[in-house]
Amino acid sequence: MEYNGCNRFKIDCAKCCGLCCTALYFAKSEGFPQNKAAGVPCQHLCVDFKCEIHDELSSRKMKGCLAYDCFGAGQWVTQHVFKGADWRQADKALMFDVFIKAVQLHQMLWYLSAANDLLKDLKLMKEIDGYIDEIVEVLNESAVQLAACDVEKLRHRVNQRLKQACDSISCQACGKHIIGHDAPGRNFKKADLSGHDYSMCLLMAADLRGCRLTMTNFLGADLRDTDIRGTDLSHSCFLTQGQINAARGNAQTKLPANLSMPAAWLNETV
Ligand code: SF4
Ligand code: SF4
Repeated sequence: MEYNGCNRFKIDCAKCCGLCCTALYFAKSEGFPQNKAAGVPCQHLCVDFKCEIHDELSSRKMKGCLAYDCFGAGQWVTQHVFKGADWRQADKALMFDVFIKAVQLHQMLWYLSAANDLLKDLKLMKEIDGYIDEIVEVLNESAVQLAACDVEKLRHRVNQRLKQACDSISCQACGKHIIGHDAPGRNFKKADLSGHDYSMCLLMAADLRGCRLTMTNFLGADLRDTDIRGTDLSHSCFLTQGQINAARGNAQTKLPANLSMPAAWLNETV
């Protein structure tokens, strides 16, 4: 299997074996159905690895389940690393370790690819290409090698380049680097936040309706319940599917082309 193609980061749960629903620890207080230890399947995971309450996740307010996104790591681990075996057939401890590493590697790839789509600094783009190649090489290693990979060390180096990329992209957008701040619950009153850098900021339950968000950087920002109903984020930067799934949008919200509209938004009004 080639590690290429425009859908490489889109989750494909039909090609996975419920890895997130099994390998990960989760807590009821974070919008999951139960407190669960890592390595234990969720009580709602069926034998065919489908979720028995999939259609009720929204009405049951399972925000943790709804927001979770593995950046395509689940199907990569199942189909590519373990050649179609599921965790019942494979060495499950190894498979779960590999999955946890693969999610982090896929997340890094997502951000690096997004940076290269936006950057104009050719030197920085070349450096980022080097990191992308390095990560893809790691992802193509054996399960044992992947599980032993020092992701934290790699992440430290990647984060330095991403920081440079964020500064550069912000300057490209508005001529200077405007740093945003934590603003949970704040009503931004349709402000022009174009080019602002809200990376890693807390924006839970903030009201961004009607704001201008061209080249606004949301890398790692906490967008849980952030109100983006009817808002145009089609040219915002570094948004992930997980952030979008956790936010409050509607059918009129405009998203970047690589992200999908959560089904629950279709019933939301402005
Ligand atoms: S790990 Fe990813 S692909 Fe697998 S079930 Fe979870 S979200 Fe779907
Ligand atoms: S409720 Fe469904 S989606 Fe959520 S963890 Fe359990 S099986 Fe997975």
